[in-house]
Amino acid sequence: MKTHAIRIHEYGGPEVLTWETVEVPEPSPGEARIRHTAIGLNLIDTYHRTGLYPLELPSGIGSEAAGIVEAVGDGVTEVAVGDRVVYTGMPIGSYAEHRNFAADRLVPIPDAISDEVAAAVLLKGLTTWYLLRRSYAVQPGDAILLYAAAGGVGSLASQWAQQLGATVIGVVSTDEKADLARAQGCDHVIMADDDIAARVRELTNGEGVAAVYDSVGKDSFTASLDALRMHGTMVSFGNASGPVDPVSPLELAQRGSLYLTRPVLFHFIRTRAELTAAAGELFDAMENGMSVRTGQTYALENAAQAHLDIEARLTTGSTVLLP
Ligand code: NDP
Repeated sequence: MKTHAIRIHEYGGPEVLTWETVEVPEPSPGEARIRHTAIGLNLIDTYHRTGLYPLELPSGIGSEAAGIVEAVGDGVTEVAVGDRVVYTGMPIGSYAEHRNFAADRLVPIPDAISDEVAAAVLLKGLTTWYLLRRSYAVQPGDAILLYAAAGGVGSLASQWAQQLGATVIGVVSTDEKADLARAQGCDHVIMADDDIAARVRELTNGEGVAAVYDSVGKDSFTASLDALRMHGTMVSFGNASGPVDPVSPLELAQRGSLYLTRPVLFHFIRTRAELTAAAGELFDAMENGMSVRTGQTYALENAAQAHLDIEARLTTGSTVLLP
């Protein structure tokens, strides 16, 4: 069958995203064909578009979507025609009206969760899960520092960290985002152009935080190290301002035997058992009150505008593309 998809033929700005008619073959053994109903936008999509994370071109784009199973290939046992499902991961290419995907990577959507919310939460929520539960497992009473606290991952992480008993210090760039961050669980908010390490010391009686979850990268890395307590953990998980420069291990020694990790979601959900267990913890956190806020939606065909806006720091919460 034919469908529409956004594809790229070269790396570049949002203008390289092109709306095309493409062929979707019958699902191969182990695959399901999904009619997408909502597609999650993630900052990582811009890394793929620019080539920071290289793709084989030409390529589809997009790492997350929800929809309805329309057909299954031979041997599929995990899902059936008519199921509502959500997925994240490779191969890239979720900016499409229909596509085939490995059935064992599909997560059934609980009845209480809409397709739009599922697409808004899966990649960002699983990221939040591994950050707070695996990269550095937050303990009750810990103070933590979280960048982009009003953004997609940040909105979820501030709420989930509160559920875990942390004192959450969020970093944001505008007053409006500061209000949002406070409303969704940040105990303290620091403005992105403040002296972040100094403000963290003030807020923690000079001690520093147990962990920094830093998605800004290049511009914030040193301030983040300076904000950590003795034996604290630096979790560098994004490149919003560009990739982090090389760092000497001595930088960790001098600041108090720090730990540094540079994690990637897909290393934490390699098997179906890992994926479904992590999704289960995510859905539990939502049942316990973690809300998912979609700050803006765009027609799939207008994905370029969504890219412009997320890169210009104009979005808040999650962003969803609607086919
Ligand atoms: P967000 O909705 O958080 O959008 C990005 C935010 O980053 C902006 O709103 C802005 O918030 C902040 N930011 C700071 N500096 C810049 C800059 N120079 N340019 C643009 N934005 C900047 O996006 P996502 O929720 O999709 O992703 C959040 C981060 O998490 C990203 O860095 C992403 O790469 C990372 N990530 C990493 C994963 C992993 O496994 N390693 C998985 C998923 C996401 P403000 O204006 O308040 O500063």
